[in-house]
Amino acid sequence: MKVITAVVCTLVLSLSLFAQVKPPTESAMDRFLRYVKIDTQSAEDQNTVPSTKKQFDLANLLAKELKDLGVENVRVSEFAIVYGMVPGNLADNSKVPTIGFIGHMDTSPAVSGANVKVNIVKNYQGGDIVLPADKMQVITVAQNPDLKNLIGDDIITADGTTLLGSDDKSGCAEIMTMIDILGNNPQIKHGNIAIAFTPDEEVGGGIDKFDIEHWGAKFAYTVDGEQLGDISNETFSARTATVTFHGKSTHPGTAKGILINSMYAAGDFLARFPTEIPNRPETTEGRENYIHPYVGTLDIETSVVKILLRDFDINGFVTLEQRVKDLVAETQKKYPSVKIDYESKLGYLNMKEVLKDYPQLTDYAVEAAKRAGITPEIRPIRGGTDGSNLTARGLPTPNLFTGGHNFHGKLEFNSRKGLEKSTATLVNLVQIFAEKAK
Ligand SMILES: [Zn+2]
Repeated sequence: MKVITAVVCTLVLSLSLFAQVKPPTESAMDRFLRYVKIDTQSAEDQNTVPSTKKQFDLANLLAKELKDLGVENVRVSEFAIVYGMVPGNLADNSKVPTIGFIGHMDTSPAVSGANVKVNIVKNYQGGDIVLPADKMQVITVAQNPDLKNLIGDDIITADGTTLLGSDDKSGCAEIMTMIDILGNNPQIKHGNIAIAFTPDEEVGGGIDKFDIEHWGAKFAYTVDGEQLGDISNETFSARTATVTFHGKSTHPGTAKGILINSMYAAGDFLARFPTEIPNRPETTEGRENYIHPYVGTLDIETSVVKILLRDFDINGFVTLEQRVKDLVAETQKKYPSVKIDYESKLGYLNMKEVLKDYPQLTDYAVEAAKRAGITPEIRPIRGGTDGSNLTARGLPTPNLFTGGHNFHGKLEFNSRKGLEKSTATLVNLVQIFAEKAK
């Protein structure tokens, strides 16, 4: 009985709170549909930030929309990073830490993001979703069990010829709509909120130009995760190893006894991976580590193989590196005339190394999701985020869900409720920071 009373009370309380909140001037979905029409695909191996000029198109639009919503200190940097500050509405805003929210504007180089034609499945009633412009592209229930939770929702996909751009225009739309809701609801109390939209997340590099100090956030969240409830305070730690094979080139007509073909050694080295390295991306999941040769060049004189080393445990690198060095030694034994060099470089560190000292960032996010009616789940990311970079540079930054699915592909989707509930979570989160500071 007691339990039932408590449940009823909570329900009444949340309903009454809900009833008091005025809706945004524009829905997260309408914003999202506007942003995905703007092509912001980033490009690999460019020497400039942003890697593609067109990312300025969305940056300038978002800056204008921020100004229209009354956000202060809005600027677009020369690197196409959009910064702004939503002033707090407390008697003393300095009592609450300034919280930052970051969405990234670019879309993956893997699939075109130009001329995105949105397909909306209204009031989804279950079953597979065949994309209209390419019937081979099917979002299946078997591969997307979360679809079962989206019955009655409006599902947003692309038409099957491009990606959707939910990653991460969902995050951008949700952050923008949070600001809109806060503006319409001065009764929702919050401290200062720093806003940023970044370029080149998908290709790395954009975040290196991020001006943490000027931005002013004490803690931040990237809004760049996937299904509702996924909160990440842990990423891989990353090293990249480079193995270089030095041979000797000469004219093949007069090469007898002189030419040393480094390609054979590189080939021998690579051929050892499938049998001798059990932990590869294609064989691992969850918290398992992996070793992954991902790119290389072959030439008689010099061949190079680059290898990703990934482990949640920073100490795990010692073992991973030793495995690769053992393979190098075996190949070296077989090809003594080829000189083989090994070197490795640290990419990013598991953000947990820092975030473990700030458990409230995860706890408050969990609470914010629960208040939005979402079941939170802490999920380690088998990769890095812009937050890994920022956390390593002194700005603790976990990652929050956006409601999106199937990033970087034509089967990408989100939903109206996915966008709305993610937005509600952000609104709850800034409130919780204000509540806890009392
Ligand atoms: Zn993303």
